Amino acid sequence: HELRTPIAAIRAAAETLESGALSDPTAAKDFIGMISRQSQRLHELVEDLLELSRIEAQKLDLQPSAIDVSELIDHMLDLYALSASRRGVELASGPCPQGLLLTADRRALEQILSNLVDNAIKYATSRTAVKLSASLRNGEIRIAVADTGPGIAAKHLPRLFERFYRVDRGRSREVGGTGLGLSIVKHLTEALGGHVMVESVPGVGSTFTVQFPAELAGNTPEALLERSDNAGLSHQP
Ligand code: ATP
Ligand code: MG
Repeated sequence: HELRTPIAAIRAAAETLESGALSDPTAAKDFIGMISRQSQRLHELVEDLLELSRIEAQKLDLQPSAIDVSELIDHMLDLYALSASRRGVELASGPCPQGLLLTADRRALEQILSNLVDNAIKYATSRTAVKLSASLRNGEIRIAVADTGPGIAAKHLPRLFERFYRVDRGRSREVGGTGLGLSIVKHLTEALGGHVMVESVPGVGSTFTVQFPAELAGNTPEALLERSDNAGLSHQP
């Protein structure tokens, strides 16, 4: 169904053009616009499906490197500044320990955060704020994308990370979603050795958190200090 809908729309537009709409410039423009939008959607869908099957076949070419988490957050803010301002969303960074490093594949991590930030902006209501923050607690690194958007009813949360699952089909179709984003987030986060959590209150907002184990934390002085603090300084001489 998800693949058939855009294909049917493209075929219908092309057939209408063939059977005469081409000679009406206004109508022709509309149909060409439709072909362009629907083929873009089809392209995104196919890319997402390919990504999912690569993850499932464990054919991801993961190349772990030490990533400066606060630098990564700033990078994500740059990437999404324009789409946030277009939707009137206030996008900012929250607390993040300086020098916190995470050993992970950068492309995968960016893809995870992109999907979460994209959702927070896409489903924003008026005056929504989106905040990216990070912490190191009990040896675990957490990166959170918190929004003050519409929130998600509790009954949807258990199925939210399933492929093609959307809370509001009508609304999701309007904003062009296919329901693969969070499924990719879950699979990629787990492929990196972490896991993803969601907390949401309707009318208040949602927070998606990806959490990675201590082994992946970098050895900056601050990170080490924070870790030994949490361990009660037990391994100090
Ligand atoms: P895609 O990401 O594939 O373009 P999508 O955004 O519809 O499509 P997911 O990212 O998997 O799919 O999200 C699933 C559903 O969860 C969305 O359709 C939306 O209803 C809901 N959702 C996700 N993030 C948020 C959020 N931050 N606030 C409110 N609802 C959300
Ligand atoms: Mg999405």
